[in-house]
Amino acid sequence: MRQFNVVVLGAGGVGKSALTVRFVRDVFVENYDPTIEEQYHRPMMVDGERDSLEVLDTAGAEQFTSLNEVYIKSGRGFVLVFRQVPWQAILSDLSKYQFNSLTQEVSLKEVESLRKQIFRIKGSENVPIVVVGTKSDLVSEREVPTTTIESLASRWNLPFYETSAKRNWHINDVFEDLLRQMRVRYPPD
Ligand code: GDP
Ligand code: MG
Repeated sequence: MRQFNVVVLGAGGVGKSALTVRFVRDVFVENYDPTIEEQYHRPMMVDGERDSLEVLDTAGAEQFTSLNEVYIKSGRGFVLVFRQVPWQAILSDLSKYQFNSLTQEVSLKEVESLRKQIFRIKGSENVPIVVVGTKSDLVSEREVPTTTIESLASRWNLPFYETSAKRNWHINDVFEDLLRQMRVRYPPD
């Protein structure tokens, strides 16, 4: 059994904690403290082999980005998260965040800039990454069409998953994909 560090990155409020906690504890936490940054441990069986994931849920608000460099250096795989629904859909949460003009467009741009940051810091484009759109249960609120995201992800040459932490849709797929990529990228000695 090998151990892989995974870092979950993305703008504030995109659903990083809900995604991580769903994956590691299999529960949906509605109001996770946005300032909490925590590392979780979860063994995972994929393709008949068991490995262990150490998943770091970052508190990805803008003011923390200087820390990203440290996280990116220590991470072997990355989950880049953005939100597919407008802020109005979660208006009640806005008070928790220290900014007020974010749109889903911004969270998508954040993914683009994180991707560049990762390549720069790793000094390579051969990095295990999965792009994740969150809150797909809120379909009626959707602002970013799936086609837009799919075309972006394929332009970036990265796998993309639409997830819902609330309904537990495709959460495991994200981490399975990442684990397979990490096994290829970091073969055992
Ligand atoms: P973070 O700042 O990226 O860690 O975002 P959170 O995980 O704290 O989520 C921000 C808000 O979005 C919270 O109010 C969550 O309850 C909500 N949220 C997260 N994931 C989902 C989801 O899959 N479906 C729905 N409906 N709401 C979600
Ligand atoms: Mg969080």
